Amino acid sequence: MLRSLRAQLSLSILLILLVMVTLISAASNWFINREFEEYMIRQENDRSVSIVNDLGHQYNDLTGGWSRDFLHTIGMYSLYDGYILKIYGARGTLLWDAENHDMSLCGQIMGEISDRMKDAKKSGAFVTRTYPISRNGKQAGSVSITYYGPYFFTENDYRFIKTLNGILLAVGLLSAAFAVAAGTLLARRIARPISKTAYIATQISQGNYGIRFESTPNTRELQEMVTAINHLAEALSEQESLRKRLTSDVAHELRTPLSAVSSHLEAMIEGIWEATPERLQSCQEEIKRLASLVADLQRLANIEDGSLKLVKTRVDLHEIALTAVRNLESEGMKKRIALSACGSPAYADADRERIIQVVMNLLSNALRYTPPNGRVEVETFETESESILRVKDTGIGIPEEELPYIFERFYRTDKSRNRKTGGTGIGLTIAKSIVESHGGKITVESTVGEGSRFTVLLPKQR
Ligand code: ADP
Repeated sequence: MLRSLRAQLSLSILLILLVMVTLISAASNWFINREFEEYMIRQENDRSVSIVNDLGHQYNDLTGGWSRDFLHTIGMYSLYDGYILKIYGARGTLLWDAENHDMSLCGQIMGEISDRMKDAKKSGAFVTRTYPISRNGKQAGSVSITYYGPYFFTENDYRFIKTLNGILLAVGLLSAAFAVAAGTLLARRIARPISKTAYIATQISQGNYGIRFESTPNTRELQEMVTAINHLAEALSEQESLRKRLTSDVAHELRTPLSAVSSHLEAMIEGIWEATPERLQSCQEEIKRLASLVADLQRLANIEDGSLKLVKTRVDLHEIALTAVRNLESEGMKKRIALSACGSPAYADADRERIIQVVMNLLSNALRYTPPNGRVEVETFETESESILRVKDTGIGIPEEELPYIFERFYRTDKSRNRKTGGTGIGLTIAKSIVESHGGKITVESTVGEGSRFTVLLPKQR
């Protein structure tokens, strides 16, 4: 079964955090308790030593006697602290015995201690140890101390360790609760843009190209993904409208000449018009135009879908310009336009045939849109990184507002709408596709009534 990203993330983060919290709590609990136990054991030993020392001070060297009152006080204090003493003199005479003194109090105190230790789930038992009591290097007596070993808690100790354990448990629980909250929140934060992307991608795949991400996440990768999806939607929507427009444009372009030829032929068949050679020729010209339009479209399609492989060699744009000028010289002369090439050699790594096609397209446009007695000039030169070819004319120019569109398919400026110019509106689109497939750029500057300047920039051969 497929689980949602959010559920999986929540579960994973939660599991990691819970394991961490449990481990940290358990480890700190264990270490603190162990340290405390060691402290208690040291404390018990110290206490025994201090009892023996205190007792030693009660021996009088000179008289060889004991201050019995103080022995009693020390014995009682020790008893209340959980240490049951039996004090003997040098010859083993019993000087003071807690059990003799108050049997029931001893029993009560021992009972309390073992209950407390059982309550704290600590194992241990009462042990008796005998220590010699020395005074100035001589043994003055001995004391046997009975206490709960290896350590025991007093009432205060027990309260302290209980509170400490309570605090540790509370911190653990609080951290676990925080882990649950943080895990869920984090998972939601990560998963939300991803599930939104999935939703938007599905919408796009269903043809809803208008959909976009409104909010941008503040994680770099997620933001990149959102931007990419938005771009994808935009590109697809552009492609879609281009495809629709292209179909209607092609239909439009074909319909006009086809209906003209059709009506002319009809008139001739029905005998309304006499089929003179001129009329037949005019029909043939329309058909030729249609054929060249279809050929242009085919060429453009080949370039755009990448099926046309570029055969790149080191070419000199200046040499290409000279060839193109030579090819169009007679046409220029016919229109009384001065056609020339100038500049210096400019080398590029390019497909010669394709670049010739670009230059021919630009030059024939220049000739087509330049009135008689005008000038058309091709200039070539190099910069550090680019080889440049420029076609300048003194023609009709292109209105500024139309400049952004002239490289689009079938686009013709109003002035050239006139079919007499013979253009198909695809020449510049082909030129742009070829230049761009070389990694280059084509730009235009133009002033109505003064002329235009098309610039082709190709990356230089490395
Ligand atoms: P066409 O075959 O109609 O010339 P192009 O794609 O080559 O198609 O050019 C598109 C349009 O750009 C032309 O119809 C024309 O309006 C304009 N144009 C192109 N070159 C020039 C130029 N040198 N001078 C003026 N207008 C131009």
